[in-house]
Amino acid sequence: MTTLQVLAVASEIYPLIKTGGLADVVGALPAALAQEDVAVRTLVPGYPSVLAALKPAKTVMTIGDSFGAPARVLAGTAAGMEILALDAAHLFDRPGNPYSGPDGLDWPDNQRRFAALSRAAADVALGAVKGYRPDVVHAHDWQAGLTFAYMNFAQGRRPGTVMTIHNLAFQGQFSAAFFPMLGLPPQAFSLAGVEYYGGVGYLKAGLHYADRVTTVSPGYAAEIRTPEEGMGFDGLLRDRSATMSGILNGIDTEAWNPQTDPHLAMQYSKASMGRRAVNKAALQSQLGLDQDPEAPLFGVVTRLSWQKGMDLLVANVPTLLGQGAQLAVLGAGEPGLEAGFRAAAASNPGRVGCVIGYDEALAHRVLAASDAVLVPSRFEPCGLTQLYALRYGTVPVVARVGGLSDTVIDANPAAMGRGVATGVQFAPVTYEMMRVAIERSVALYRQPAVWKKLQSNGMASDVSWRDPARRYAALFRELVPAG
Ligand code: ADP
Repeated sequence: MTTLQVLAVASEIYPLIKTGGLADVVGALPAALAQEDVAVRTLVPGYPSVLAALKPAKTVMTIGDSFGAPARVLAGTAAGMEILALDAAHLFDRPGNPYSGPDGLDWPDNQRRFAALSRAAADVALGAVKGYRPDVVHAHDWQAGLTFAYMNFAQGRRPGTVMTIHNLAFQGQFSAAFFPMLGLPPQAFSLAGVEYYGGVGYLKAGLHYADRVTTVSPGYAAEIRTPEEGMGFDGLLRDRSATMSGILNGIDTEAWNPQTDPHLAMQYSKASMGRRAVNKAALQSQLGLDQDPEAPLFGVVTRLSWQKGMDLLVANVPTLLGQGAQLAVLGAGEPGLEAGFRAAAASNPGRVGCVIGYDEALAHRVLAASDAVLVPSRFEPCGLTQLYALRYGTVPVVARVGGLSDTVIDANPAAMGRGVATGVQFAPVTYEMMRVAIERSVALYRQPAVWKKLQSNGMASDVSWRDPARRYAALFRELVPAG
């Protein structure tokens, strides 16, 4: 088998730049795919953190006018990955996160910034970097979506194309007034092109022009073809059914390994689960919770948003307290939810602890210390927290949606009878069903042998990238002519 060359295009890559799960996936795939004889180079915007990490940063392509000023593509390695960075200071040398400034507002020229990324990606895909000809281009989310529109109108042989949706809620839709700026031929502004509800749709473009469409779980792949969950794309995605699939995300099983995790008060394995008690006591102490080894401790690590069902959790704080449980929340996001958790902690000292902010080390400690992790998402393309939970012997209590339904096996009588259950699911995603799920979870927790079985089943689940990488590699190879 020859090594397949894949050009990935994305706006985030862990550990260089991250706002969410997208970065984790883009950062994990190169190493996982290397095991499958697939060599990945990833083109990302030249954000300050990317350029600072890139060595040796060799110029491999120059662009006379990259949407307003000259730019270049730099090549090098960073964090062990082959990176191509679009060095365009007028677009990417800014404070804040990849999409918004320090005031939290989206940059007004995001349409220009990510058109520039996609234009550069298409040029690289078609051979603009000397000595580099990718076999397949893998575009992630709307920021990379226009890549395939640009490639479509170029002459000559082009690589295979795969568009991956990490979250359909982020669509990259802009006013039609921007279309002329994109430099696409007029016929691209049509239903069979980049036009989307009267504007320009960047994700739409990717989904329309890609040879294959994937999303990050089979459950989400099915859901987004329904009018209820399709967020306007269900028709297009139903048309693409024959070329669409769901491939679950894995997690970094080295960074997330309870046997070696440097962030924990006490490391442990499946054979020494009793040592988790030390982590529980340490977290209780850190968050000002009562030192109560018997109280079921529910943990949450998440963006605080409507998608994540956090309003349902705020409403269910009395349910948790009524069950004698404790709650530890680590999250940041919508101000109303932040205030809600702060208030819950202030009025229930010793029972509810919250840390508002983003803290990687604390995330590890919450996972290792909690008895159960709550993930009440209204929709969830894949979800990573429940995968970390499985690996850490923390029982996931999840909404039965998207990737959550694919990765957690509910402790119903049939699954318990077969000895395969790993957690608790609930549906529909309402206050009431979440309340029932919390009560069911506490009842299971109060049966130590049953709980221990859930924990050890979870720890035995394969949440690594091995299987997903095989599936991506197989998909990529389908797009490359034999021989
Ligand atoms: P999404 O990408 O929709 O936010 P995912 O579950 O796919 O949700 O990925 C979220 C990632 O971000 C996980 O790695 C999770 O642990 C991490 N995370 C979210 N909020 C925080 C936080 N406040 N502190 C530390 N890590 C967080």
